[in-house]
Amino acid sequence: MSTLYGGIEAGGTKFVCAVGTGPDDMRAMVRIATTTPAETLRRAIEFFREQSQQDCLAAIGIGSFGPVDPNPASPTFGYITTTPKPGWGHTDFAGTIQRALGVPVGFDTDVNVAGLGEHRWGAAQGLDNFIYLTIGTGIGGGGLVNGKLMHGLIHPEMGHIRLPHDWNVDPYSGFCPYHGDCWEGLAAGPAIELRWGQKAEHLPKDHPAWNLEARYLALALANLICTLSPQRIILGGGVMDQPRLLPLVQQQTQDLLHGYVRASEILQDIAGYIVAPSLGKRAGVLGALAFAQQQSE
Ligand code: ADP
Ligand code: ZN
Repeated sequence: MSTLYGGIEAGGTKFVCAVGTGPDDMRAMVRIATTTPAETLRRAIEFFREQSQQDCLAAIGIGSFGPVDPNPASPTFGYITTTPKPGWGHTDFAGTIQRALGVPVGFDTDVNVAGLGEHRWGAAQGLDNFIYLTIGTGIGGGGLVNGKLMHGLIHPEMGHIRLPHDWNVDPYSGFCPYHGDCWEGLAAGPAIELRWGQKAEHLPKDHPAWNLEARYLALALANLICTLSPQRIILGGGVMDQPRLLPLVQQQTQDLLHGYVRASEILQDIAGYIVAPSLGKRAGVLGALAFAQQQSE
């Protein structure tokens, strides 16, 4: 019997659960559709129970969609709190897993945990200050500040920052239920589909959608660079699967900063500064394994 770790990447459409110790040692993995909390958590627990018949699970790490309560001192630690996702508001996620499996459980946002994966095995190795963003069904951001996962009042909500919105160029009003045209409202995958009437993955690569998308991403990145001074920015999520987008964002971010931030990373190596996750789609679930390892240290 070897000592292994469990990881859960909890998304609004699917949960990815895995057991292992790292990228070269993934012993088992399962995808579970995100239905009701009762059913989804039951299936995740079943998976880990089955796995722990062969191996000893030392801890579980969870990176979850949110908003969440990641503060261990809070009475609602480990809960998904005020999410608009039907049925999932005020769900005691970490507690349910912890009681069922009897091991230490780490709980944080999906993006903080994916950032941790990139820090341990991917594009942020050796960096104490970096941002991990996902541009997908929503937009979220996390990462490390001074070597620690980003927390504060609750946790960052980078997707909901406000950007200049030129209504003449872009009359689309945005889909965020709270803010309309915040960054997520203007630039997450559903905004592209609602604005242009076609799913982002079906838009041709020379479509004007991509320049506009790059503009919103670059505006946000310039704000985040000026606010947090990250040593690198990692851009994940399904929308970044359009290969034209990353170079456009790199160029436009550099243009917007206009030489003001005097770092060679930005002035001379923007392609090494704004990067794709080197763990690709596995950043989230691998981050959850890295996070589990921290729980039992
Ligand atoms: P989630 O955010 O739910 O975890 P993803 O990160 O996979 O999911 O992002 C889903 C979004 O990415 C959808 O809005 C989809 O339209 C968009 N998307 C998927 N594939 C592509 C692609 N090849 N190019 C651009 N956008 C894409
Ligand atoms: Zn918003």
